[in-house]
Amino acid sequence: SGVLYIVATPIGNLDDLSPRAVATLSRVDVVAAEDTRHSGRLLQHLGLQKRLIALHDHNERDRAGSILDELERGHSVALISDAGTPLISDPGYVLVREARRRGLTVTPIPGPCALVAALSAAGLPTDRFLFVGFLPAKRTGRRAALEPLRQESATLVFYESPHRILDAVSDIAAVLGDSREIVLGRELTKTFETFYSGAVAEVLPALEADPHGTKGEFVVMIRGAEPAGHDDEEGALDVDHLIRLLLPEMP
Ligand code: SAM
Repeated sequence: SGVLYIVATPIGNLDDLSPRAVATLSRVDVVAAEDTRHSGRLLQHLGLQKRLIALHDHNERDRAGSILDELERGHSVALISDAGTPLISDPGYVLVREARRRGLTVTPIPGPCALVAALSAAGLPTDRFLFVGFLPAKRTGRRAALEPLRQESATLVFYESPHRILDAVSDIAAVLGDSREIVLGRELTKTFETFYSGAVAEVLPALEADPHGTKGEFVVMIRGAEPAGHDDEEGALDVDHLIRLLLPEMP
């Protein structure tokens, strides 16, 4: 049977596409892509013409079946997403899980990943980190998601979109405290790559004041909590604090 390759593609700078990724894309029979128009352009740039199958969050269960059929018929498949490493806040989990269950060969072609790139240059501890993906889109949900992370000592890493970044950072200030150290990595590998760092109370106004501040894509990184036990009950969820935070948002 064919091999399923999980191929990382650039997060902005096309030169980050590895020679091995190019060789793999040129060798496979089929490319499974999150957005076939977007990935069609990448393949065109490489001078490659490939059969494309769309695999996105809404159709992954259906499409995984036809991709698995391709593999079992001996065809090799490359899975790519719009940017970075597939399955990292991107489609592919159902497919990879099922491919492994059927005993098929799944092999990674590693490369760009926004969270790893951001962490590598942020200057925050990287020995332990907790990647939380995207925070909920609405304020109440976002604060509730942050609440259980107040005592987390590992570095916290989130993905955030430009139109929610200010709200997200202000919720981080409200829940984790505005003296917490935060680093934002914006437009990594692109022309306007910027890092903002400092206490949340400093970074929020800096972002608001920057005319480019809310443009582009962000990785949000937060220094973990100091070890508990000084002034707080260890690991206990502070229900009073949670209710005080959520009260103004309740209907
Ligand atoms: N699979 C991708 C990866 O490996 O990083 C992530 C896909 S996720 C749908 C998209 C999010 O990743 C964006 O909203 C942003 O938070 C982050 N991201 C992607 N490219 C980025 C970049 N060049 N600079 C900063 N963040 C980026």
